[in-house]
Amino acid sequence: MSFRRRTLLKVIVLGDSGVGKTSLMNQYVHKKFSQQYKATIGADFVTKELQIDDRRVTLQVWDTAGQERFQSLGVAFYRGADCCVLVYDVNVMRSFNTLDNWHEEFLKQANPPDPKTFPFILLGNKIDIDGGNSRVVSEKKAKEWCTSKGNIPYFETSAKEDYNVDPAFLNIAKTALANEHEQDIYFQGIPEVVSETEQRGGCAC
Ligand code: GDP
Ligand code: MG
Repeated sequence: MSFRRRTLLKVIVLGDSGVGKTSLMNQYVHKKFSQQYKATIGADFVTKELQIDDRRVTLQVWDTAGQERFQSLGVAFYRGADCCVLVYDVNVMRSFNTLDNWHEEFLKQANPPDPKTFPFILLGNKIDIDGGNSRVVSEKKAKEWCTSKGNIPYFETSAKEDYNVDPAFLNIAKTALANEHEQDIYFQGIPEVVSETEQRGGCAC
C-alpha cells in the first residue's frame, strides 16, 4: 500500500488587538503589508508549505479573527496546537504587560500534556516606528520575561518593513516540528467498498 506522508503543524498567534498579528502573518505568507487597520474577519488560518531539512511541512497559522478583544476564542482555536506565538507591540507597554495573561490563557485552554515544555515564541513587533524612538519596552526587558517563562525564543520584528519575519516563522516551524506529537496526517487509499448497511439505508427521496 502506498501513502504520502505530510506533516501538519498548527501554530496559533496570540496577543492584544492591534499589535500586528494579522500583519505579520500576511507579510510571511503573502508578502504584503497594509497600513489600514481592519479587524480580522473571514479565514481562521493561513497555510504555508515549507521544506525543513528532508521534511515537507504544512504550517497552519491560526489568527484570532478579532475575538481577542473578548478573549472568547473557543476550544477549536486552541485544540492540537504545536506552538504558540505571542506578539506584543514594543511601543505599547500594555501589550507587553498582558503577555502573562495570554501565556496563562493558552495553557489553560489548550491544556498541553506538558505545560512546562510546551513551545512558545515571543515576537516584539513594530520596531520600525519612529526609528525606535517611541519604543517603551527594551529588548532586555523582553528577554527577561522570556527567561522567566523557561527560555522562550525572542524575535524583534517589523511586519511593515518585513524585518525578521521569515527568520521568526522559520524558528516557529522548527520549534513546532520538534514538538510534533503523533498527529501526522496519513493520506491512505480508501477502499471503495460500500457496506451493506450503507447500501440498504439512505433517503427515499
Ligand atoms: P492585530 O489586531 O494584532 O491583528 O493587528 P494588525 O495586523 O491588524 O495591525 C494593527 C495595525 O498596526 C495596522 O494598522 C497595521 O498596519 C499596523 N502594523 C502592524 N505591524 C506593523 C509594523 O511592524 N510596523 C508598523 N509601523 N505598523 C504595523
Ligand atoms: Mg488581526
